[in-house]
Amino acid sequence: MEMHHGHKTRMNLIRLSKSSVGNEEIRAVTQVLREGYLGMGEQVKQFEINLEKFFGRKVLCVSTGTSALQLALQACGIGSGDEVIVPSLTYIASFQAISATGAKPVACDVDASSLIIDSNDVEKRITKKTRAIMPVHYSGGVGELEKIYSIAKKYKLRVIEDAAHAFGTIHKNQLVGSFGDIVCFSFDGIKNITSGEGGCVVSNDKKLMKVIEDLRLLGVENDSANRYKNIRSWSFDVKHLGWRYHMSNIMASIGMVQLKKFEKLSQKRQALAKRYDDKLRGIGNVLPLSRDYDFVVPHIYVIILSKKINRSLLMTCLLKLGIQTGIHYYPNHLLTLFKSAYKLKNTEDIHQRILTLPLHPEMKLKDIDYICSQLESIVRN
Ligand SMILES: *Cc1c(COP(=O)(O)O)cnc(C)c1O
Repeated sequence: MEMHHGHKTRMNLIRLSKSSVGNEEIRAVTQVLREGYLGMGEQVKQFEINLEKFFGRKVLCVSTGTSALQLALQACGIGSGDEVIVPSLTYIASFQAISATGAKPVACDVDASSLIIDSNDVEKRITKKTRAIMPVHYSGGVGELEKIYSIAKKYKLRVIEDAAHAFGTIHKNQLVGSFGDIVCFSFDGIKNITSGEGGCVVSNDKKLMKVIEDLRLLGVENDSANRYKNIRSWSFDVKHLGWRYHMSNIMASIGMVQLKKFEKLSQKRQALAKRYDDKLRGIGNVLPLSRDYDFVVPHIYVIILSKKINRSLLMTCLLKLGIQTGIHYYPNHLLTLFKSAYKLKNTEDIHQRILTLPLHPEMKLKDIDYICSQLESIVRN
């Protein structure tokens, strides 16, 4: 076995991210399987009720975070000929959700230190065709969200928050999702809570939510109410293009257990991130994002490397030491499909220097200590 910096190569890989599910989730799924109503039914309704208690607002569950974004946009009447402003530094899902409606995603820059949407750049990207802004709550932080809302108010735009990273984050004493125009979450396997796959839309806009309720079930009017009671609709009307984007009982049963455990899951994520901050502060050449983990529930833990660090070499070294790392994200405006005619200075500089370190609730504080000491000895040399 190879030796590195005086430590033995670890036998167990510390994964970048990992679902954290256990016996309770297994029991919940098993019960749904035994009952024999696997699709959208009572469990989905119950999960929505539980989420509504959590957020204090109307919630609709859907198949993925991506479909939540797409349906939110479509329900706003956004489509072909419209533009939606979105930070380039996001998961491809944000961009594809916009494209799926026929609208054009218009990439904007992020703030160089927080990696959250830059409101000054947002204002530069507004045209006659702009219909909405989609801020992305990168790594769980929301930044100066009120600035986005004031721009939206000034130009009469909708705001669809991509809160896929921010389930549980508190912003100025308010839970993300409990305020704002439309807020979309993801429950994919590695997010702050999971339902296997899945997502939800949260909003106070009753008319919009009614539209989404139908759109997620192929546009079949009022089908949700029947499905909640395990009844199928046989005669109905359809007025809009719809999709098969509902959540299943199997997914909801996992989600409900995760929501019950959320206090523990979120505290663990926060404790791990705080430990990273403590250990990395003072190490030259690496800069943690500045986030207050008493309020932010981090989905990922990202550091910014100084220019002289060779990132791919660092990633290879860490992997040999049993530490899996990642890059969130390659900028969307540099992809063939979304190529922009203009440059985004901060995004183009920073994306080459960001590195995501392992973060998931099954990690231990001593894993963080190990990662940080290995990282320190590599970036020193
Ligand atoms: C995960 C994620 C999504 C999409 O969620 P899915 O449930 O995977 O479809 C959207 N935006 C961001 C920033 C994400 O991380």
